[in-house]
Amino acid sequence: MNVLTDEIVAAGEPWLGRVAQGQTFRIVDLEGNQAVDTLFYNAADTSERYSATDTLIAQGAIYLTTGTVLRSNLGRPMLTITEDTCGRHDTLGGACSCESNTVRYAIEKRYMHSCRDNFLAALSRHDVGLTKRDLPSNINFFMNVPVTPQGGLTFEDGISAAGRYVQMRAEMDVLVLISNCPQLNNPCNAYNPTPIRVQVCA
Ligand SMILES: [Zn+2]
Repeated sequence: MNVLTDEIVAAGEPWLGRVAQGQTFRIVDLEGNQAVDTLFYNAADTSERYSATDTLIAQGAIYLTTGTVLRSNLGRPMLTITEDTCGRHDTLGGACSCESNTVRYAIEKRYMHSCRDNFLAALSRHDVGLTKRDLPSNINFFMNVPVTPQGGLTFEDGISAAGRYVQMRAEMDVLVLISNCPQLNNPCNAYNPTPIRVQVCA
């Protein structure tokens, strides 16, 4: 395949890019167990965007992996996961924020950098017409959030490893908004955010 974009996103940093219909988007977990908080928008009309509920209802399952069709708030396919060497990705746990840092960890964690801050920083650097009102529930690629038989959500140690990747085919032109999670309080990344590689191929 012809590699159009090949970038390293440093630990804790955001990324915003475009993937055209038919192109392949790949995220590589370079060092393992990194959470990659991700949102997708229809590049032609950003009021259409990734919907966790539409995606989960349509596939009748709560984890994302090979074969999952990532759907929009209009129920339309945005991307299809075509390869996945991790095996499971979460879309229930949401993105970390100053509010969740305060509730989950401690009041003095409020001012630590978060995924929500990263999303907003990326939107402020790129003039794509999106603001904090445009951040729906996201995907957490490589994050392990098993649901217990009782229906509880649990944040567990990651099941990814260095070099594992997830690859998807764009079914429409999409904007990709990523926060390479800067979280320092969650055991899922061993308290150690690490870089990722993002690639767009035609
Ligand atoms: Zn985060």
